[in-house]
Amino acid sequence: MFDSLSEKLESAFKQLKGEGRISEINVATTIKEIRRALIDADVNYKIAKEFTDKVKDKALGEKVLTSISPGQLMVKIVKDELTDLMGGTEADFDISQRPTIVLIAGLQGSGKTTFSGKLANFLKTKKGKKPLLVAADIYRPAAINQLQVLGEQVKVPVYAEVENKNAVEIARNAVEHAKKEGHNVIIIDTAGRLAIDEEMMQEVANVKNAVNPHEVLFVVDSMTGQDAVNTAKSFNDRLDFTGVVLTKLDGDTRGGAALTIKYTVNKPIKFVSMGEKLDTLDTFYPERMAQRILG
Ligand code: GDP
Repeated sequence: MFDSLSEKLESAFKQLKGEGRISEINVATTIKEIRRALIDADVNYKIAKEFTDKVKDKALGEKVLTSISPGQLMVKIVKDELTDLMGGTEADFDISQRPTIVLIAGLQGSGKTTFSGKLANFLKTKKGKKPLLVAADIYRPAAINQLQVLGEQVKVPVYAEVENKNAVEIARNAVEHAKKEGHNVIIIDTAGRLAIDEEMMQEVANVKNAVNPHEVLFVVDSMTGQDAVNTAKSFNDRLDFTGVVLTKLDGDTRGGAALTIKYTVNKPIKFVSMGEKLDTLDTFYPERMAQRILG
């Protein structure tokens, strides 16, 4: 078992006690440790390098106070920089429109449908909203069924048209239906494929253009590491999404994908998902993720 980066940094600086400045020499080795730890946590090499260069500049000449060890100071600098890079504070999720339309996109298996159920539950129980879930996956009848089961569990109605093979039509009809029934949030779960595919991309883009969603959330499995970043880029090029949902953070990933995705597409991570239970959805807090990457 490896020590966490925090522990490594603290031990690397143990010899530098009391008052002093962090020098070029004692920073060099730790910078390497930081870079390696970031890469281990799935942060892309180029980003890890840029990041550590910045940390190095910041750390050099930093006055070490007696109240805090140099190691702790390094940990603090790294944590603050990581937090900053991931957006600093939590991103806004605007549900003020009536109705607010939320489009959910991502690859099959990323956790889209589960997230849709969690989001509906979150908006209903924590925000007092009256959501409608929409099954717009026209390829897999099982997906409609899965959403219906989730809907029953969280007691949110699901709009589906089992015979209809036109996702744009389904989405448009769902919005009309929601307005009639007084739903103030509409969550549209779209079809995903196992890999990026033109037909799927075109379809999601068409649904987006048809219903003009206020939020387009891209759902990505945090366990997929660097692939997650490439997928995010493709989806963003096509959909210009408003935010990212990082799922399966209950696994053993360090969560570096969060940093790389934010850096690459420059879109905020809005939610994280930490399990299959429907009440586990949480807002994304950059500081908590920074702590997780640091270990
Ligand atoms: P979709 O194909 O994108 O709609 O993905 P699903 O919602 O069907 O999820 C795919 C699988 O991942 C299912 O077995 C889910 O139960 C599971 N899953 C979804 N979100 C999470 C999560 O946050 N943590 C874990 N451990 N599993 C998840």
